Amino acid sequence: CGIVGCILKDNDSNAAPILFDCISKLEYRGYDSIGLATYENENIYVKKDEGKINEVNKKLDLPDMPGSFGIAHVRWATHGDPSKLNAHPQLDEENEIAVVHNGIIENNTKLKEELMAEGHTFRSDTDTEVIPHLIQKFMDEGLDLEHAVRKTIEKLEGAYAIAAISLREPDKIVATRKDSPLIVGLGEDGYYLASDSPAILKYARDIIYPEKGEIVILDKSGAVVHDEFDNVVNKE
Ligand code: GLU
Repeated sequence: CGIVGCILKDNDSNAAPILFDCISKLEYRGYDSIGLATYENENIYVKKDEGKINEVNKKLDLPDMPGSFGIAHVRWATHGDPSKLNAHPQLDEENEIAVVHNGIIENNTKLKEELMAEGHTFRSDTDTEVIPHLIQKFMDEGLDLEHAVRKTIEKLEGAYAIAAISLREPDKIVATRKDSPLIVGLGEDGYYLASDSPAILKYARDIIYPEKGEIVILDKSGAVVHDEFDNVVNKE
């Protein structure tokens, strides 16, 4: 029921402790599972499980993950029981794309059927898993991460705040929202995403508020918001 993302300017600093700190601040939104994904050296690292944040952390040591950027999630299950497999991040088949999602994809059954007819195999019972699979499909067709996310949301019905990272296009987080909250934080040491401001208050000096359908691209040089025609949106 909450997402965060973080990309640090310094390649040698570690995002996981910050992601863990931020996502812990969204505990009040209610959750049954927690998970993080980070990127370093052509690898996506994932740690996730169902349970209380402290219990999962005792088992997995969540802040101990490599990489200067990543995404995190606390889940309030709507589709699929609370379990390790159903916890986010959800990945594509090649484990090249990791996605956290807050909300409900209403047409997930139809999308799953279409993707299965095209040969996709699903591992979880979540509505969310169609998202990394659609991004994978569109990246396979030649789109970059931003445009694969844009084409994916054209197919989605329901409510979502999404953040995605990809092995194929590292050093970048792409995020978007419709009817679920998402804010962007600009900080001294990096750039942040969150479902709510308490998560990133400590790290971000300025906050920007993306509108429905806008795409946020975070990289080491900043946060850019694009409208549906690829124009840069200037945010106060
Ligand atoms: N509908 C998704 C799921 O059940 C996301 C739930 C949430 O917002 O935490 O996995």
